[in-house]
Amino acid sequence: MIQLIRGFKDILPGETELWRYIEETSVSLFEDFGFQEIRVPVMERTELFQRSIGEETDIVEKEMYTFPDRKGDLITLRPEATASVVRSYIQHKMYAKDPIRKFYTIGPMFRRERPQKGRYRQFYQINAEVFGIESPLIDVQLILMLVTLFSKLLVTDIEVHMNSLGCPKCRPKFQEALAGLMLSAKDKLCKDCRRRSEKNPLRVLDCKVPSCREAMAGAPAIVDFLCPECTRHFETVKEMLEKQNIPFVIDKRMVRGLDYYTRTTFELQTGLLGAQNAVAGGGRYDNLVEALGGPAQPAIGFAIGIDRLVEIVALNKEELVKKPDVFIAALGEESMNRAFEWICGLNLEGIRADMDFSGKNLKPLMKRADKLGAEYVLIVGERELEEGSAILRNMQTKDQAVIPINSIVKNIKEKIR
Ligand code: AMP
Repeated sequence: MIQLIRGFKDILPGETELWRYIEETSVSLFEDFGFQEIRVPVMERTELFQRSIGEETDIVEKEMYTFPDRKGDLITLRPEATASVVRSYIQHKMYAKDPIRKFYTIGPMFRRERPQKGRYRQFYQINAEVFGIESPLIDVQLILMLVTLFSKLLVTDIEVHMNSLGCPKCRPKFQEALAGLMLSAKDKLCKDCRRRSEKNPLRVLDCKVPSCREAMAGAPAIVDFLCPECTRHFETVKEMLEKQNIPFVIDKRMVRGLDYYTRTTFELQTGLLGAQNAVAGGGRYDNLVEALGGPAQPAIGFAIGIDRLVEIVALNKEELVKKPDVFIAALGEESMNRAFEWICGLNLEGIRADMDFSGKNLKPLMKRADKLGAEYVLIVGERELEEGSAILRNMQTKDQAVIPINSIVKNIKEKIR
């Protein structure tokens, strides 16, 4: 039998409901915050990711699915979405009409990481990206939107981790300080980091090799090197988060694994997932639009890992699974035919109605209604049809009411809503 590729997975019925619920909740919230959907391809020219994520990052060095297409052009299955959204913003000159744009996008990403619980080679993200706003208030708004989404999804075990990565003005001084440390610890660094220490010292900070971690344990904090503008920006973000009652912790060592970040970076972590504790991450990338050939426009965004979020939300799954509003227990063929018309009518009216199609008698039908968690059961048999009424039973209170069969869809709608 042909099996799935390692690190890939099927999302099966019974799971897809939760995925869709998370996606729909996000979309509805993001649209309230003024975001519009954008859809970008899953493949791009390899160069796009090399230039945005950075040549010296783990993603570009080791994790991309890159291959030549039949003509020999190098293409890559996207490891993240921001680069594509930026490319699209530039390519369609979206900034010309209005540089301020807010986008969201949902879809699969591909990274050839070592698979483990919470880490897949095809995984899914919900991205939000804002272009054209330099104010730190937008940083706060994005974090507020994320935190609100998690609370809507009843995810409470969440901690916001924050750092500032400065800008090209303040970063060289920090890199100099790092370089000093790295020079003295050169023997402890892995081969990749020895190379990185010269070209891109910041990346040594997120190397996962234990000896590198140990060597960098005493590394200075970038927040201590920020220029006055970056300091003011970060101070405002922190103040406004406090005003919004959003608790956060400053994580001086968090650099995030992509080169394009500047200033505010953040990650949402949870204690519910074990080692893969990050459910969302993001930050400013104020120089990326220009670096990829567009105008100088500031930007900020985040990505939520849907696979991980599903795992957390699944812990409260019972409360989220949609149950029938009404189950029709129809006894006998004639009643079943009528019931079928009614459930069709109810479904069209947005009422979740269900029935059994196998001609069971009352006891197993009630059992089925119970199993589905139906709020109401409508009982109808030959006698009820003759009398022109049916019995509507509230499954929680056990109250029963006799309701006329004439305009039953309308009657049920009124009773249960
Ligand atoms: P990043 O694009 O690396 O900033 O990651 C953003 C979020 O995507 C993380 O916080 C994770 O929730 C999720 N994520 C990243 N890589 C993976 C992966 N290999 N498998 C599952 N989720 C991932």
